[in-house]
Amino acid sequence: MLGLMQDRPLLISSLLAYAETYHGATPIVSRDSDGSIFRYDYTSLGVRARKLANVLLSLGVKPGDRVATLAWNTHRHLELYFAASGIGAILHTVNPRLFTDQITYILNHAEDSLLFFDLSFTGLVEDIAGQLPKGIKAIALASAATTPAGKNIAFHSYEALLEGASDQFDWPHLDETSASSLCYTSGTTGNPKGVLYSHRSTVLHAWLACMKDGFALSIQDSVMLVVPLFHVNAWGIPYAAAMCGAKLVLPGHAPDGKVIYELMAREGCNFSLGVPTIWLNFFKYIDETPSLTLSDIKLDRVVIGGSAAPRSVIERFHATFGAFVIQAWGMSETSPVSTVGTLLPKHKGLPLEKIVDIQVKQGRAMFGVELKIVDDDHKELPKDGTVSGHLLVRGPWVTAGYFKGEGGKVLDAEGWFSTGDVATIDSDGYVQLTDRSKDIIKSGGEWISSIDLENCAVGCPGVQEAAVIGVAHPKWQERPLLLIIPKPGVTLTRDTVLAYLSGKIPKWWTPDDVLFVAELPHTATGKLLKMKLRQQFGQHLITKGGLVD
Ligand code: ADP
Repeated sequence: MLGLMQDRPLLISSLLAYAETYHGATPIVSRDSDGSIFRYDYTSLGVRARKLANVLLSLGVKPGDRVATLAWNTHRHLELYFAASGIGAILHTVNPRLFTDQITYILNHAEDSLLFFDLSFTGLVEDIAGQLPKGIKAIALASAATTPAGKNIAFHSYEALLEGASDQFDWPHLDETSASSLCYTSGTTGNPKGVLYSHRSTVLHAWLACMKDGFALSIQDSVMLVVPLFHVNAWGIPYAAAMCGAKLVLPGHAPDGKVIYELMAREGCNFSLGVPTIWLNFFKYIDETPSLTLSDIKLDRVVIGGSAAPRSVIERFHATFGAFVIQAWGMSETSPVSTVGTLLPKHKGLPLEKIVDIQVKQGRAMFGVELKIVDDDHKELPKDGTVSGHLLVRGPWVTAGYFKGEGGKVLDAEGWFSTGDVATIDSDGYVQLTDRSKDIIKSGGEWISSIDLENCAVGCPGVQEAAVIGVAHPKWQERPLLLIIPKPGVTLTRDTVLAYLSGKIPKWWTPDDVLFVAELPHTATGKLLKMKLRQQFGQHLITKGGLVD
């Protein structure tokens, strides 16, 4: 027997409609490419999104068509989030930090019919014009006056198109399982693969951000959205903010520590999200600028994900602003948020050091996300916080397969998706990532966690960034090599670093050597590109003629 409840679909357009009705006056603040600040609210977002919906239809966009963006965090990009998905098209946010040939690959793979771009990408769009999908139209996210004519391809002005459009539009009633947005994984190996989200998965995932034991996002919050709108739907925050009426602050073109700091101070931001690198740069700016009045910053929660949140960063947020770092884990294939590092009642009153011990873990599964760890033979392993295994995930916002079937079947017979991460899960459900499967260091058959070593090394005074890779060793097959970028003006030695690590890690994990480098390679999403480091340093212990003890 079926229940007798209404079958109303979960749609992205309903998030916007709700925000307009109940949070119409909540501000949205956006930094334009020239550094100027644009302010409006959810009511005006709704008006402009409806105008944009009419523009998209007049440009020939049909349900299921892909609409690409090469754009920063601005109000115009936000309008595309709601308008493109709202009419039943698919918003395809392209990561501009990808290599040019990857960008042309994914635009063609997605067969995008429109490309919206920020003016800072004008040269890029002109350069790749000849390799774009046939018939694609390019629209500059700019006024008519600032939109260039375009070389090799004609440019339209976003503002000119909007100006001529009606703001009357009824969002269509779509099937909630229809596709709403598309993000390609950065593809450190092989071509990028498309993850296709649905209205249903997006709305369910947004709810999680608004749960008290999720990110506790609410109308009380002023959000500094540092995580890019082109990185896994900005971790779902645009949708969640509309759901709960949170104020959104969009920092625009390539925001650095200074831009983030100043906007946070001016807009009273108490909540923010970003990858660890962003926060390392943020604190670097603070350290280099002693004139700042730190009490201007009202941060109380900061979500860190995408890479492991270093202990030193968690402690720094606490000490500087009294802000609590919520570590979250996920991936493009999981929308992305899957686990969230909030505390349990039994943790109340623990000393700070013990609380940080919990915060450095990747958190617990939210309702809807099922997790397990398995060994190489796919046998489930115990959740005892000690044994590590391949992390598998299942749930309504986890991918069932890549766009156009790339990569073949990705789920096992019971619907589990293999994340490629290696982790432990403790009896309270806290996940602790020890590595990517491909980065784990196998020393004499035992596993050494490169992430644990990096987290520890970053805490060493004078260390700006650290990477640990497994390199060839004649006796142990692989041993850890530590690469360090020292902070400017600091001279570090191998011995001082190793002395710092001593006692904080198992003795046999001690890196066999420490190298000081000027830079470390990163992927387009800010993760260490360890494959490249292994290519460069893989033979280090062997070729340096004489092994280090
Ligand atoms: P990419 O496109 O680079 O794969 P994703 O955002 O999908 O980008 O990357 C997901 C991966 O990032 C995860 O599988 C995991 O390895 C890593 N990751 C995400 N969050 C964390 C975290 N909190 N701690 C450690 N690693 C993380």
